[in-house]
Amino acid sequence: MKHLNQVFSWAKLQPPIFRIRVAAGLQVKRNFIIATNSTRSHPFAKKYQKNQHAIHLHAETHCLVKTFQAGYDIKDLRDSTMYIARAILDPYTHEYRYGMCRPCVGCERALIDFEVGHVFFTTEKGIEQLW
Ligand SMILES: [Zn+2]
Repeated sequence: MKHLNQVFSWAKLQPPIFRIRVAAGLQVKRNFIIATNSTRSHPFAKKYQKNQHAIHLHAETHCLVKTFQAGYDIKDLRDSTMYIARAILDPYTHEYRYGMCRPCVGCERALIDFEVGHVFFTTEKGIEQLW
């Protein structure tokens, strides 16, 4: 899981946002586009987050926004794979480990709407595939 490790490494480097370090990477064509949770509001977030108060982009939706900004469109996403990793700093060992980051309902809806081909995410126990 080279790409997942790449995303995990990225998550580790982030300042925590809302106390969470999460990163999502989309392998699309020959590109790999990485994003983290964002504190910016975006119309995309309004459409896809869990409720009307959640106006900030999650790593997954932020990654989709960056992908479209990079010039890709929905046709390119069919063969794409998204990797989502959460890094948790263990207070005792001071090392990072995987954390649960199954996409929330809103992000899952966005991933379905934009026909992302495959989705992998970290859990406390390892890696799971959403589809
Ligand atoms: Zn989400």
